[in-house]
Amino acid sequence: MLHLRGTVLPDGRRDLYVDAAGLISDSPLRGAEVVEAPFILPGLVDAHCHVGIGPSGPVDLAECEQQAITERDAGALLLRDCGSPTDTRPLQGRPDLPEIIRAARHLARPKRYVPGLAIDLDDPALLPAAVAEQAAAGDGWVKLVGDWIDRGVGDLAPLWPEDVLKSAIDAAHAAGARVTAHVFGTDALPGLIDAGIDCIEHGTGLTDELIASMAERGTALVPTLINVENFPGIADSAAKYPTYAEHMRGLYRTARDTIGKAIDAGVPVFAGTDAGGGIRHGRIADEVEALRHAGHPDPVGAASWTARRWLGRPVLEPGSRADLVVYREDPRENPAVLRDPVLVMIAGRTY
Ligand SMILES: [Zn+2]
Repeated sequence: MLHLRGTVLPDGRRDLYVDAAGLISDSPLRGAEVVEAPFILPGLVDAHCHVGIGPSGPVDLAECEQQAITERDAGALLLRDCGSPTDTRPLQGRPDLPEIIRAARHLARPKRYVPGLAIDLDDPALLPAAVAEQAAAGDGWVKLVGDWIDRGVGDLAPLWPEDVLKSAIDAAHAAGARVTAHVFGTDALPGLIDAGIDCIEHGTGLTDELIASMAERGTALVPTLINVENFPGIADSAAKYPTYAEHMRGLYRTARDTIGKAIDAGVPVFAGTDAGGGIRHGRIADEVEALRHAGHPDPVGAASWTARRWLGRPVLEPGSRADLVVYREDPRENPAVLRDPVLVMIAGRTY
């Protein structure tokens, strides 16, 4: 049993007790070992990462485990996996690893995503059935590739017709799952948002009108700003497609403003790194910093308590699992401390 002596965020109450079963107790536990814990946060959330993807594509389960350990050591104890070619279910329930909320496999169309990662549907009309299948295979989320370069067009273009999207998203909701989509540009967004999608990933092509629509509907946004830093590199490697390359450079130039407008308009914006391909795991602190620069009023909450509530997970309530992270200083005042947790705890055990 532990008595964590410090301030609990976000509510500022003093001290937490962790019982022998690794659960939070609201009343003092006699004989608990005292641990100095200046600022106690609900375990951080990486709301967009990929356990199962490395710099050169899919990785095996042993590498997945390493990725999860890297996230854990950075304090990220709840991972929303936005699509993985590797089945990471064997890692679930491991007491020493972060909880992974899996979106199962990405759904895309042939030649319209990073090779080897997605399930490619030859006919877009197959999407509703494929969504239902991934909803059953995942943990309450389904991931669509909303837009990607269409080499015939030479630019970003939507993957799915709008009527198909409506039935696909309805199918997910009927199965109790939420849907999110990878979207860099603008054209795929109206169809996805109007079809009732629950979240947009990246969202660099949002317009004022689309932002207003998301705010009204409560559609969430995970901008993965540290991955947007890769856009100029993507453009440089796409010299054969100059329109696309220029499009990506333009999206990069306006990204911080665009995401800032979404934040100002009241769109729920959460912290996700997109770790997996172009981003290494364990960088949640960098995304918090990027959200702060984009004007997020509570970037630490966006990577902890607010994100946990959005994902339906507890926030250090009595009886909930003691998944927490401790810092020397209040990260809301000094976000740099997020890079250096003094204690990471899963279910009452420290790592
Ligand atoms: Zn991603």
